[in-house]
Amino acid sequence: MPRVAVKSVADAGRKFPREFALLHQLGGTDKDVDSEALLKGAPVYGDAAAVKSLVEGKDSIEFEQLAKAFAKKSQSASVEGPEGNCLGWAARDGSGTLAPYKFSRRQLQPNDVMIKITHAGMCHSDLHTIKGDWGPAKYPVVPGHEIVGIVTDIGSSVKKFKPGDRAGVGVFVQSCRECGMCKAGEDIFCPKLVYTYNATQYDGSPAQGGYSTHVVVDETHSFTIPTNLDLAGVAPLLCAGITTFSPYKDHGLDKAGLKIGVVGLGGLGHMAVKFGVAFGCEVYVISRSKAKEAEAKAMGAKAIIPSGDEAAMKEAAGTLNGIIDTVSAKHDVNALLALLAPRGRMVVVGLPPDMPTINHFAVVQRNLVYSGSSIGNLHTTQQMLDFCGEKGITADVEVIDMEYVNTAMERMKEGDVKFRFVIDINKSLAL
Ligand code: NAP
Ligand code: ZN
Ligand code: ZN
Repeated sequence: MPRVAVKSVADAGRKFPREFALLHQLGGTDKDVDSEALLKGAPVYGDAAAVKSLVEGKDSIEFEQLAKAFAKKSQSASVEGPEGNCLGWAARDGSGTLAPYKFSRRQLQPNDVMIKITHAGMCHSDLHTIKGDWGPAKYPVVPGHEIVGIVTDIGSSVKKFKPGDRAGVGVFVQSCRECGMCKAGEDIFCPKLVYTYNATQYDGSPAQGGYSTHVVVDETHSFTIPTNLDLAGVAPLLCAGITTFSPYKDHGLDKAGLKIGVVGLGGLGHMAVKFGVAFGCEVYVISRSKAKEAEAKAMGAKAIIPSGDEAAMKEAAGTLNGIIDTVSAKHDVNALLALLAPRGRMVVVGLPPDMPTINHFAVVQRNLVYSGSSIGNLHTTQQMLDFCGEKGITADVEVIDMEYVNTAMERMKEGDVKFRFVIDINKSLAL
């Protein structure tokens, strides 16, 4: 790889966070960068001609010139509202329509990391929240809890990260670290848990999510990201990944040879398939139709069982050791329970606003376990990311610009996504 030396400026991450993040995102370090990767990234993120003339035939370049060639015009000047150090897209009411919104992230505290967001995944929970499916939201809401980016600055006590490192943030940004749950590594059950958006942080400020330029978070609630994985494909691991990895681990379903059903082949579902296959399970996808069979098989699933096909559901009855149900809307849960073998376990992760009554005779008479699972703990999230690094697992993504987000929400509602929308923040949003 032809590498060009970078003459870095002091505090580059603080002065030019977007361009500093781009340098690292495109395969560079503070000292040098792969010139081919820079040229490849130039048409997407910067001025292609300027980057070309900067790099071609050179052994070294000045970071400041590089920053200029990749500079993006600020979009915040035209945004109404209070002054702020962060630009996001927020929903203002139950219509769920997202539009630019300026707000402030807190000043860096000793244990905080400042992450320039490069990519944000779009989870169906973002849609449920901004539409008020689960009750009125704390508008304005900047959604997004599948966040990846590059660290641009660190507080004085931070140990885990240095500027230039990749970092991720998931579904919660604060837990007290003092209660029994936190001490037991069960932070997800901390009574003082603060979700990444639609919540209030300990300092009283609203928590706002990753459809924004940057985030400030305590290092305990951010994760290191394997360097061999594509950042866009990593973003969905921070929610879809951990939410489907945890049930395998917590319920002992991560054993080779077990027959696992994954219900709903969306963002969560396709990650559940990939994990099941990586654990050596025999994975079946229960989908509304056979339309996604080719994709399911390409991920390693054995077959699709179409939930609307009575004969196919009857044939599969009593065969599965475990089911992970990721469906986002009301559906026939009793038909799914019938697929389990005796002592089979069904773990529900989908959060439809309404669900039918469970046939408890079916559960009791065949010793079934019907349970739920919420996201996953901090240490399990890091374990999952490291596992993905070892196995080369990422999400299948459709990368979009920020301007497309409302259309993407509509498409997600209709189930028209393969299999996760990811917003290229560094390309399409600049403070
Ligand atoms: P998604 O990408 O939209 O996928 C949902 C899938 O559900 C669809 O692809 C579709 O699969 C199926 N589906 C949709 N409407 C349906 C209907 N009316 N009947 C039957 N199946 C239907 O959503 P996601 O981001 O994976 O999220 C899924 C659910 O998990 C959401 O409710 C979300 O809020 C929840 N969630 C929970 C947690 C947690 O901690 N437990 C974390 C994240 C998300 P097919 O087309 O294959 O049928
Ligand atoms: Zn989510
Ligand atoms: Zn706690």
